[in-house]
Amino acid sequence: MFDKLEHIGIAVKSITDSDPLFQILLGSTCYKVEEVESEGVKTAFYDGNNVKLELLEATTEDSPISKFIAKRGEGLHHIAFEVDDIEKRMEELKSKGFRLLNEKPKKGADNKLICFIHPKDTNGILIEMCQTIRE
Ligand code: ZN
Repeated sequence: MFDKLEHIGIAVKSITDSDPLFQILLGSTCYKVEEVESEGVKTAFYDGNNVKLELLEATTEDSPISKFIAKRGEGLHHIAFEVDDIEKRMEELKSKGFRLLNEKPKKGADNKLICFIHPKDTNGILIEMCQTIRE
């Protein structure tokens, strides 16, 4: 189903405030900051050697990250797996009874098409599937 763990998403109140912590923990600096306006988030990527970390900061009050932090505080938000054909995987999951949070793949950060699986169907874990957009 999934190819490999692509990144781990962490909800933070402020990327600026959390940046020094992740620099210490990972021994590397943020290599990319990108805003995804449609999702109301700003993202920052760090190289964690064998997996990327994505910090997510809300840019609007009704952003899913604002709601997440209000409810659960900062912390682990989602894990993302790479897939080769996102539409095919979405169909496959739907046929197995999984609910998806979006009907069509969405444009995410880092040149990816993304789709989230409903956490109620995955032991409470928010799982993102992502496929690199080929030129
Ligand atoms: Zn992500």
